[in-house]
Amino acid sequence: MENGGLQQTAAGWIRRATRVAVLTGAGISAESGIPTFRDNNGLWRNFRAEDLATPQAFARDPRLVWEWYNWRRSLIAQAEPNAGHQALVALEQTKPGFTLITQNVDGLHARAGSRDPLLLHGDIWTLRCTRCGVAVEDHRANLDPLPPVCGCGAMQRPGVVWFGESLPAEVWRKAEQAARSAEVLLVVGTSALVYPAAGLIQVAQQAGAKTIEVNAAETPVSGQVDCSLRGRSGEILPRLLE
Ligand code: NAD
Repeated sequence: MENGGLQQTAAGWIRRATRVAVLTGAGISAESGIPTFRDNNGLWRNFRAEDLATPQAFARDPRLVWEWYNWRRSLIAQAEPNAGHQALVALEQTKPGFTLITQNVDGLHARAGSRDPLLLHGDIWTLRCTRCGVAVEDHRANLDPLPPVCGCGAMQRPGVVWFGESLPAEVWRKAEQAARSAEVLLVVGTSALVYPAAGLIQVAQQAGAKTIEVNAAETPVSGQVDCSLRGRSGEILPRLLE
């Protein structure tokens, strides 16, 4: 079936469902001008994103990691939610059992108007103390001096989940529960390579949900989902969910 026919079939599943879960990744924010991790060729100072988003990188060179987060914060501060984020806000309003689960740390879902998205990987606008654990919100695009320091005197770190770290337990519990009880799981703009987040697709499938992928490129789950729609989420989602 062509994208058009597939899209109609997928739209029907979504329309008929009352419990819909959505898992988003960096791709949904790409059209807002925020780089994803795995698509862009341009390296930042000859480092791979995956090499900077680790506890080891932070222990080695906290200032370098913070400079990278400052750069990302300034890009995100200039960005606006796009039509993909907005289509999910509209969907939420029509479904009593709606859960938005995101791997993104940019805050664009909330800025678009999504209520309580489950932030699997934390929030780039939160700083957390490396000693006392106190977390504070800070929306300055450029933190200076670096690294920032907590009131207790210790260094703060970005309030995000790095590769090799555990997900926030309560957020993960809710995400798994939503995936297990959904009639439809919509998977948008994720390479489906980062676990345990990508495992939610299997959780939903095993519980009998229809799974729909929206992605600009093929991913490891494209052949496993019930319907894989190829294209930009800012274009496909408004049509799929109208
Ligand atoms: P990823 O970079 O691994 O993959 C991005 C995916 O988006 C790819 O499969 C790509 O084909 C797809 N894509 C790109 N443009 C698209 C578009 N316009 N429409 C639809 N799909 C598009 O991202 P990931 O799977 O989210 O995993 C990377 C990790 O990096 C996550 O943990 C996330 O926390 C973090 N991250 C977050 C942000 C953000 O908050 N915006 C940005 C980069 C990375």
